[in-house]
Parts: sequence; structure tokens; C-alpha cells
Amino acid sequence: MTMTPEQSSRARELAHRLRSVRNRIAAATAPDGQNEPHLIVVTKYFPASDVRILRDLGVRDVGENKDQEAAAKAAELADPELNWHFIGQLQSNKAKSVVRYAASVHSVDRLSLVSALGKAMGAEQRRRADGGVPQRPDLSCFIQVDLRPGPAREADPGRGGAAPEDVAGLADAVAGTTGLRLAGLMAVAPLGEDPDAAFGRLNSLSLQLQQNHPQARSISAGMSGDLEAALANGATHLRIGSDVLGARPPVR
Ligand SMILES: *Cc1c(COP(=O)(O)O)cnc(C)c1O
Repeated sequence: MTMTPEQSSRARELAHRLRSVRNRIAAATAPDGQNEPHLIVVTKYFPASDVRILRDLGVRDVGENKDQEAAAKAAELADPELNWHFIGQLQSNKAKSVVRYAASVHSVDRLSLVSALGKAMGAEQRRRADGGVPQRPDLSCFIQVDLRPGPAREADPGRGGAAPEDVAGLADAVAGTTGLRLAGLMAVAPLGEDPDAAFGRLNSLSLQLQQNHPQARSISAGMSGDLEAALANGATHLRIGSDVLGARPPVR
């Protein structure tokens, strides 16, 4: 496909930004065989044309936080090589839509959502069977943890994320639901706190979780501003938006 001058300048910009993020990741990853983390490029608010450019630059994992926007981009690109990660707060009534395109959900934070995702996966596999389409893999689920101290959580609920004491029950529910695979934990570093301390707590929670669910080793943590702190605390999946795509356009 030939590109317009605007498209090729955007392609050069994205290539440059992606290279510097990859360099930061390489510099922050221990040389002694620590597994290379998965880079999820968060493309929210940016057009499908940017996702296509990123795909051509070798990106396979993309993150989105709104079902409507994600569903539209996934349908427009219809690229089986892309893995779509749903990273935003998710209403249960969107579960049916999300399981059509998403490989994973990073924001599982309540039992009602676990059961909605399980039901949606069952319906999706039946829909595929009826249409003669191959089954999809199980949905990878990350339990999102709210790392703020208890009083801050209680003063300002509804930000997304389960209390640390609720993780074990949620993990058992995911692991016990057909169609769902328990991947591990996800968190966003709380505002105003050293991300290193917050991600340290996430790492401890992950080790606790692995005592009952040894396969649930993934840790989704680290954004543009704190990827180094996340990697120092065992992150396996980074979610990087603005440092690859640029400043987000004003919300429409
Ligand atoms: C937007 C978003 C990101 C990416 O943040 P940047 O600071 O742009 O890298 C990561 N995780 C979640 C949950 C997000 O909503």
C-alpha cells in the first residue's frame, strides 16, 4: 500500500518512539535471563491506521479501554495476528462484546464480572460452533488490584480494582469458570505514591496468589511514566500508551 506523506511521517514518528520505549525496556530488564516482558501498546483514542503502522513495526499486543472503540478498531483491522487486551473498567453488560475480539481482560475486579465473562465465553463458543467458526482460546483474566491504602479506597470507591483481601476469592472464581484462564494480577500505581513501593506490594500479592494458583504468574504493571519501577518489581506485561503514540488527543 502506498502511503500519503502524512502517513509516512506518522510511521516514522511511531517507529522512532517505539524504538526508544523498547530501548528503555531493554535497559531496565536484567541481563541475567529475566524473561523479556510483553509490551502492550495502548492505542486508546488513536485511529486504527496507527494500529496498522504499529503492527507493521512488529507490535502484536494492543490495549484499549473502551469496548465501543476497541470493537470498531478490531473489526476494521480484522487481523488475526493482533492480540487485543481490554484494560479499562468493564461493565458486565459489555462482556458479550469484549469476548468477540479480546484475548485478555486486565480489569477483572468483582465476582459479578467473572460470572458475566464466563457466560459470555460460553455464548461466544456456541455462536462460533453454530457458524462453523473455530473455537477461540480461553479468555486470559488478570485480577485488577486497587493498591491505594484502605482509607483512600473507601473514601473514593469505584476507581476500578479489587481490595487486596478480595484477590484470593476472585482468583478461585476465575480459575473455576469454564472459558476463563487466570493469568495473574494487574494494577495501576496510585497517584502521589512512589510506584516502586506500590509495585512491591503487587509483587508480594502475586507471590501469595501463586501459592494457590502456581500458573498465575503474570503481572500487568507499568505505564509510560513508571515502566522501570514495574520491571524492577517483576512486571511481565507493560501497558504503554503516550510514550509510543504521543500525547493523547483531547477527548472527543
Ligand atoms: C491509558 C492507560 C495506560 C497507558 O498509559 P500511558 O501513561 O499513556 O502509558 C495503561 N494502563 C491503563 C489502565 C490505562 O488506562
